Amino acid sequence: MARYIFVTGGVVSSLGKGLSSASLAYLLKSQGYKVRIRKMDPYLNVDPGTMSPFQHGEVFVTNDGAETDLDLGHYERFTNISAKKSDNITTGKIYSDIIKKERKGKYLGKTVQVIPHVTDRIREFIKGDITNEDFVICEIGGTVGDIESLPFVEAIRQFANEVGKNKSLFIHLTFVPFLKSSDEIKTKPTQHSVKELRSLGIQPDIIICRSQKSIPLDQRKKISLFCNVSIENVIETVDVRTIYEAPISFYNEKLDKQVLKYFKLKPRKKVDLSPWKKITKTVLNTKKKLNIAIIGKYVNLKDAYKSLDEALIHGGISNSIKVNLVRIESDKLKPKQINKLLKNVSGILIPGGFGKRGTEGKISAISFARRNKIPFLGICFGMQMAVIEFARNTLKIKNAGSSELDKKCYPVIGLLNEWNKDGKILKGTNKDLGGTMRLGLYEAKLRHNSLIEKIYKSKSILERHRHRYEVNNSLKNKFENKGMIFSGMSPDNKLPEIIELKNHPWFIGVQFHPEFKSRPLTPHPLFSSFIKAAKFYNDK
Ligand code: GLN
Repeated sequence: MARYIFVTGGVVSSLGKGLSSASLAYLLKSQGYKVRIRKMDPYLNVDPGTMSPFQHGEVFVTNDGAETDLDLGHYERFTNISAKKSDNITTGKIYSDIIKKERKGKYLGKTVQVIPHVTDRIREFIKGDITNEDFVICEIGGTVGDIESLPFVEAIRQFANEVGKNKSLFIHLTFVPFLKSSDEIKTKPTQHSVKELRSLGIQPDIIICRSQKSIPLDQRKKISLFCNVSIENVIETVDVRTIYEAPISFYNEKLDKQVLKYFKLKPRKKVDLSPWKKITKTVLNTKKKLNIAIIGKYVNLKDAYKSLDEALIHGGISNSIKVNLVRIESDKLKPKQINKLLKNVSGILIPGGFGKRGTEGKISAISFARRNKIPFLGICFGMQMAVIEFARNTLKIKNAGSSELDKKCYPVIGLLNEWNKDGKILKGTNKDLGGTMRLGLYEAKLRHNSLIEKIYKSKSILERHRHRYEVNNSLKNKFENKGMIFSGMSPDNKLPEIIELKNHPWFIGVQFHPEFKSRPLTPHPLFSSFIKAAKFYNDK
């Protein structure tokens, strides 16, 4: 039977619970264990799919088409284990399942309550879809003490009680502040947070203390004593220089060792930290820089394009160059400023997006990249904008647009009606916005001798999608005659998946989101190639 590790957080949010869970998962996996990581989110949205990136950061998409919390992206990048739909749940999803069941009369007249019905559904999630995993790491979103997270905390308490101490472990991550004025490290917030957790019936087995400075032995002893945790299980995590150092740092702090010791297990093989050491060194020692412009609506919010930022950094690592991201808010990009704003960039990227705001700025920037032969990568909405730009300025279809943005335009981008998923025809809609897009992995066939085929070194690829609209394929010949090639198509030849320009060194648009599949240890070929082209442009 699997062993369950529950990770809660206290004192403040954004302490890096996701990164800690992901690092632990890597360390256990690397020692020969089969690991799964999952996330429970206490908010009422059924999934984060309809949430604005301003609110919640990026929406991550899994192979099987779930729109999930961005922490699942961290997990995938650190462990290379593909997350599934069954790895993320929200309070909204739990309630919607329960209410559906209640309406069908499945509770046989009982009063439906948080305990046991909500907690039972959470427990079902925790153990669902598990086969021969050795460890299941479950992170609980939010901080202990929040009203929203109470049912989750209660459910993991019940769960641990059911499976027993030898099959369950509680890790609590807290903040240990350093007060400059008194030159002191303070343990009181940690004590309070653990007290709160214990009042809910959970005694943590390991406490991870996030701190700016290393915690002296005396303070560790204090935490151990007041929080009732053995001193070896008070583990510190001091701010790392790059996130790629996190697995190394947790290993040095013996997090994995203490977890294995708790379960009376031995490593099945020696941990391999060499890939992380190698990329940490590359990241810290690379001095040469190049500028890549990201032009989007949410650029000023740190996590809004998390996977994309990461993928570009990965592309930089594989080319031994530091990628400096120049974030430009699309609605501030007026045609007159384009020259000035984009003068020092060696590559332009337009990411995915929704809605009209800022689109004209994006289109002008694409024009600039096309005419000045600056490497360009358009992702999803970015590709759609590149198609509109080309239709307007090269094919001279002045009112070319997307039916998402303008009902009266000439729709070179149109609402998707149907697509083929594993032989089944699925229909798109824009009536209900949650979970109704073309989502998850789809195949694309790549044209022989195209740039994209050279990049992927393959005739067929599988990439993750998240969009409602598609390029209108009926104009394919017109586009191709003027130099925009539809170099990737869905297997049934109906949906354009990739466009590229014939007379341009590197101009590619993709309907999917390659960033979700990039890993620090295996950078995505599209990003490596884009950065390589930008480096070439920069050196010219
Ligand atoms: N808004 C566009 C669509 O729905 C693009 C979506 C995206 O960029 N992810 O098709």
